[in-house]
Amino acid sequence: MENCIYNGKEICTYDLKDKNHLYISELVEEWKLAAGEGKLICSECGQRVYLAAGPIMEPYFAHYDKLACPYGNLTESEELKKGKRLLYSLLKRSFPECEIHARYKMKNGMYSTCYVTSPAGNDIAIDYHLQHSSIGKFQERDQYYKSSRITPIYVMGINKSGKDNQISWYENLLQKSMGLCVFLDVWNEKMLLKRSFDYKVGSLRKVRFYQKFYSLEDILVDSNGALLCDFLEECEKIDLSITEEKNQYEQMLRARDDIIMNMNNIRPDVLSTALECLKRGEEHLVSKRYIDYIVANNLL
Ligand SMILES: [Zn+2]
Repeated sequence: MENCIYNGKEICTYDLKDKNHLYISELVEEWKLAAGEGKLICSECGQRVYLAAGPIMEPYFAHYDKLACPYGNLTESEELKKGKRLLYSLLKRSFPECEIHARYKMKNGMYSTCYVTSPAGNDIAIDYHLQHSSIGKFQERDQYYKSSRITPIYVMGINKSGKDNQISWYENLLQKSMGLCVFLDVWNEKMLLKRSFDYKVGSLRKVRFYQKFYSLEDILVDSNGALLCDFLEECEKIDLSITEEKNQYEQMLRARDDIIMNMNNIRPDVLSTALECLKRGEEHLVSKRYIDYIVANNLL
């Protein structure tokens, strides 16, 4: 477990290492001493806990007797523990003035992985999972965040990122909620950002796809919960190019219409007057050639 109570305040193992993943030894010593004196207390069951801070595994608090405590019985992989610590550090770097909580219990009883309490009122929650939730669970969570004006940043384990150039149904849920998909590569300390662009040109459905890896140290979170890097700029370029593609298609259609009109000796100005007449029910004012053309091209 990452949190416990010390002198009436919550402390978190993610604070024990610096950005180079080296232990801050004074803090380790202080908390180990405190544990020895019985001053580290589990926030859920009130039992005494101790600090395990070895060289290989991520540090954690543990119960002397964990049988009775649901928090103490949680088992987490090293990937999950390190990932949580990296995300916690990302928020600490991004919001040095704000309170950052790990395993934050929200008002509805759900936990978010990390949480920023913003003085301005727009709180940010990081929701990190190695596995998919069900659609129902995801939506319950997402709706809670939205209705409570909390900005969620959903982060998945890198192994859940598909290798092909499209996004999965679950990634589509994430993209609908926050405009992109975020994956954390704990071992290389990188984030993979992904976005899919679905659009139509005429009746043809098209998909484009963009993804890019970023070093975690090059990313910050802004006060709106956006990840500060060039990903959004790259996506805007793709949006522009899609608009361009659609415009070219429209131009092509108009050019084709012009050719057809020329072939049928149809003048655009007369055609639009003819259409207005037909809409008013004044068919007798329109020549047969124009009526034939309008019917053949389904213009009404
Ligand atoms: Zn406990």
